[in-house]
Amino acid sequence: MSQLSELALEIADCKKCILSKSRTKSVPGEGPENAAIMFIGEGPGFHEDKQGRPFVGAAGQFLEELLAGIGMKREDVFIGNVVKCRPPGNRDPMPDEIEACRFYLDRQIELLNPKVVVTLGRYSMARWFPNAKISAIHGQPRKIEGRLIVPMFHPAAALHQPSLRKDVEADFQKLPEILTQFEQLDDTQPPPPEAEQLSLF
Ligand code: URA
Ligand code: SF4
Repeated sequence: MSQLSELALEIADCKKCILSKSRTKSVPGEGPENAAIMFIGEGPGFHEDKQGRPFVGAAGQFLEELLAGIGMKREDVFIGNVVKCRPPGNRDPMPDEIEACRFYLDRQIELLNPKVVVTLGRYSMARWFPNAKISAIHGQPRKIEGRLIVPMFHPAAALHQPSLRKDVEADFQKLPEILTQFEQLDDTQPPPPEAEQLSLF
C-alpha cells in the first residue's frame, strides 16, 4: 500500500480534534498519486461527510465544470481539504482544528509533491499567505518551496456571486499556462531576486 493510502487510513480513524465526534466519515482527499495539480478546499460539507469524498456537492459540481473548461477531469488532479472532518453546520474551522489537522495536509503535500497547488478559499490560502487578502492576490502564482501556489476563490462562494464567478473562471483559464511555465522554470539556476514573486500574466 502506498504511503498516501496509509495516510488516508490514519485520517479515517483520527481523533485528534473535536470534529471527530460529530463527523460521519472523514474525508482524506483523493486523486492520482502523480497528480501535477493539487486543489485544497476548506473542509467537508454535508455530502462529503456522508460519502467520505471531497467536493461531491454543489461546489464539487462547479469545480468539475471549471476543470472541464480547461480540458481536465477531477480524476486528473488531487483534491484535498484543510480539515478532513466536517465542521458542524458547515461553520468555519477553528484554529485548533486546523492546527490538529495540519500534519495530514503537510504529509499529503510532501508525498504528492505537486507542481502546482491551487488554494480554494481563504483557509487554505492562509497556510501560505497568512495576511493576504484573497481579492488582492487571487490568480497570481507565487513560487514557494519549489512549487507554484495559486490562490483562488472558493467555488462555493463563487457559485452564486457573478463577479467572483467571473474571477474564478478567469483564474482557471490561466492554469494550463501556469503548468507550462512551471516546466520551464530552471531550478538549477540561482533564482533571480524576484523569483518569489512570479508575475506570469
Ligand atoms: N467545500 C470544501 O471546501 N471542501 C469540500 O470537500 C467540499 C466543499
Ligand atoms: Fe483528525 Fe483532522 Fe478529523 Fe480533526 S479534522 S479529527 S485532526 S482528521
